[in-house]
Amino acid sequence: MFGLKLENHYARLPGEFYTLMPAEKVGVQPRLLHANPKAAALIGMDAGALSDPAFTQVLSGHAQLGAFKPLAMVYSGHQFGVWAGQLGDGRALLIGQARNPAGELWDIQLKGAGQTPYSRFADGRAVMRSTIREYLCSEALAALGIPSTRALAIIATNEQVHRETAEPGAVLTRLARSHVRFGHFEHFFHKGQHDQVRQLADHVIAEYFPELAGDHAAWFGEVVKRTAELMAGWQSVGFAHGVMNTDNMSILGLTLDYGPFGFMEAYDPGFVCNHTDEQGRYAFDMQPAIAHWNLRALAFALSSLIEKDALISALDTYEGLYRTRYRTLMRAKLGLARKEPGDDQLIGDLLNLMVKARADYTLSFRNLSGEDTDWLALFGPANVDAEVWLSRYRVRTERDHVLDLDEVNPKYVLRNWVAETAIRAVEDRGDIATLDRIFKLVQSPFEKHDGDEAFAAPPPPELCNLEVSCSS
Ligand code: AMP
Ligand code: MG
Repeated sequence: MFGLKLENHYARLPGEFYTLMPAEKVGVQPRLLHANPKAAALIGMDAGALSDPAFTQVLSGHAQLGAFKPLAMVYSGHQFGVWAGQLGDGRALLIGQARNPAGELWDIQLKGAGQTPYSRFADGRAVMRSTIREYLCSEALAALGIPSTRALAIIATNEQVHRETAEPGAVLTRLARSHVRFGHFEHFFHKGQHDQVRQLADHVIAEYFPELAGDHAAWFGEVVKRTAELMAGWQSVGFAHGVMNTDNMSILGLTLDYGPFGFMEAYDPGFVCNHTDEQGRYAFDMQPAIAHWNLRALAFALSSLIEKDALISALDTYEGLYRTRYRTLMRAKLGLARKEPGDDQLIGDLLNLMVKARADYTLSFRNLSGEDTDWLALFGPANVDAEVWLSRYRVRTERDHVLDLDEVNPKYVLRNWVAETAIRAVEDRGDIATLDRIFKLVQSPFEKHDGDEAFAAPPPPELCNLEVSCSS
């Protein structure tokens, strides 16, 4: 079907892991708003099938994907540091698992596909606004080399969804090797179902970590490593997730569940992208420590499976792994190939300068490779400290082979105002071309894209103070 080789893999687990249920028929004459051929390739799908009306029917719940029986997964989690009990796919549905030609298994999941037994009191729907944000941002991060769920398509449902106001609805088709979260393990552990914890761990290891079969401790160590590397990736590009609850933490170390995320513009380590996070629990500079907190919650959930000492030693590797990866990424951003004493200081001093001047995070690195005057302009008029730093940097890089900075430092990230521009274009004017332009920029963020340079800039005044909340 559509070139897909489908497999019912998750459903090999017993029934307590999910609820089998057909998707709801969402929307009135749903139509394909945008589709992503690069994501189609990941699942071994023929890109031409994306525009097949029969595929739109599948992505809006009006038809099933072959014989695959859709299912909603159960999980629990800690939200904002507090045990939240059972959650689960409240508006997501696994509609297929496809084996691609490379032998990789991929989940195909609808988000906004209607209510499930895990919806609690919510409507199972997704609004167009947050669907466009997730669609663009998952592709933006992936293009920056940061592990993420991917986005295959947006369906416009032609129905209103009620949040603070009535808004147009949508369904996102999301792809990931797996959507299993830390919270899946917490769910069974906290119910005292230790056999299920083991079953799920073995299921995940067999498919996604086959080289670690039989070694649960080594597997947890690998989850710690992937999570540490994910955090370093986010920090290096100035990305804040906004809701790092354990139910939003991927067991594969992917960026998962895009809500009130934000790419930092003016550099501020305390940046809180989620308007509703009043305590700043998930502030930008808290993220690496929060991920460790989340890994501890996962370790606790695995404590009937893995020896305590092994869990603790794996957790203890986190900081070193994080720091090593972060340093590597930041050195690359300055183009520093060979290590020299004083490099850490050089990087730290630049970040301090950026904080003081509230310089744009992305451009502070990108413009390093361009005209010096442009770069200094980011720090305000006649900033002597910035000039001094620049001469130190020049001296330092004269001695080194400077890596190609424009291949490391993106020109385009998904700035909030850029995402908002795409949303307003679609919602106010039915203008898909603007969405498509922005989609192409974020999918090749290192290229120049003549004529679209405005999207690389900080927000124009009228789009300066956009607030992003959990409402989606
Ligand atoms: P989130 O904050 O988006 O990670 O979601 C937390 C939990 O709420 C998950 O179990 C979601 O499936 C569920 N959820 C969020 N929004 C909705 C919705 N509109 N309908 C049903 N469940 C939802
Ligand atoms: Mg979530």
